[in-house]
Amino acid sequence: MEPATAVATSVAAQTPRRISILGATGSIGCSTLDLIGRDPQRYDVVALTALNNADQLARQAIEHDADLAVLGDPDGYQDLKAALSGTNVEAAAGPDALVEAAERPADWTMAAIMGCAGLRPTLKAVEQGRCLALANKECLVSAGDLFMKAVSRSGTQLLPVDSEHSAAFQAIDPGISDTIEKISLTASGGPFRTWTHEQMKTATPQDALKHPTWSMGKKLTIDSATLMNKGLELIEAFHLFPVEAGQLDVVIHPQSIVHCLVEYADGSVLAQMSSPDMRTPIAYSLAWPERMWAPTERLDLAKIGSLEFESPDKERFPALSLTQDAMQADNGTTTVLNAANEIAVEAFLEGKIGFPAITALVMDTIDAAMRDGISKPDTLDDVFLLDEVSRGLAQSLLSDKS
Ligand code: NAD
Ligand code: MG
Repeated sequence: MEPATAVATSVAAQTPRRISILGATGSIGCSTLDLIGRDPQRYDVVALTALNNADQLARQAIEHDADLAVLGDPDGYQDLKAALSGTNVEAAAGPDALVEAAERPADWTMAAIMGCAGLRPTLKAVEQGRCLALANKECLVSAGDLFMKAVSRSGTQLLPVDSEHSAAFQAIDPGISDTIEKISLTASGGPFRTWTHEQMKTATPQDALKHPTWSMGKKLTIDSATLMNKGLELIEAFHLFPVEAGQLDVVIHPQSIVHCLVEYADGSVLAQMSSPDMRTPIAYSLAWPERMWAPTERLDLAKIGSLEFESPDKERFPALSLTQDAMQADNGTTTVLNAANEIAVEAFLEGKIGFPAITALVMDTIDAAMRDGISKPDTLDDVFLLDEVSRGLAQSLLSDKS
């Protein structure tokens, strides 16, 4: 039950906050709308976007009384327009329309498009200089330096939504961040935590999509099975927090209760805990700097009994070392890695390659890109070019394999 006091915060007394959600039909988008829909008078929904699910997007836009609904895929325009006919919701479609949606004035934008495709609209939202709740980690993996420069240029308040980064954000006092010794991101270990290398060779997409603790979109669930997700998160943390690459590490924690540990110079370790439900970090970003009630299962540590921790097995999960090397190289390799990983995960989901071949394809693409010569992207256009070239390399390596 929602406590009465939760509604009566000072935020409720203010005029409604203008909210946009980039990637509204996905796992993070739906969880965000779930929170907003519980207290609709507090929010004024400006724009909702998706790739191609016109019916779902139209339903969400009508239910939450959005001003604008946008599909990334231009072919969906007629369906979206038909589904919204007779309502006040404006319909638009195509990549430019996505960018225009992100430009519509909003006080708080959730960036939850999947993959590097989210980079351009998310950066437009950054340019508004208000609050950006960042779920889309691929933005930081592909273009971390440029992204963070845009954030500081615009004065945007960046609020990490990835559970580990939300946890670190909560545990870090910016005034004493120079005394941080280490940030440890926890990882559930995914569905193959206890599988042998031989067993993993036989893993199907159905096996990999059975995540033990979190409910997420498909791409992220596969990334969690390879541990590539944790590698991407190390890169994300490197850009978000004032630490060197060597101060970041990963600890396996199968219960997904402790999300991150921040260790200070005096030996104190501050951690954040919650049941594994993304509505907690989303609510944190939505209410920041206050707190709001969220409809999540409360932690009962006595019932849980024990919390386990172990070191990751970097041999069975080579994605971790691969991402750490790419992060240390600081030469554009992370852009290549992200692009190749997006292609590899799609190929695995389509049954074109086996599970271990996901990380192998990413490695091979990085090797091929290095042979051709890569350099750190200086501009956004450089990022998009390197992303495109890397996708091409990964696709051609994929056709060689099949
Ligand atoms: P999802 O696949 O469930 O949803 C993705 C959303 O983006 C959908 O609305 C989809 O229509 C839209 N989209 C996909 N491709 C697009 C394109 N090319 N152009 C425009 N829109 C596009 O994904 P998700 O699990 O909600 O994850 C979204 C982002 O949040 C990812 O970057 C993921 O890594 C990050 N994240 C997710 C979780 C989680 O629990 N789901 C946790 C932490 C971080
Ligand atoms: Mg995470």
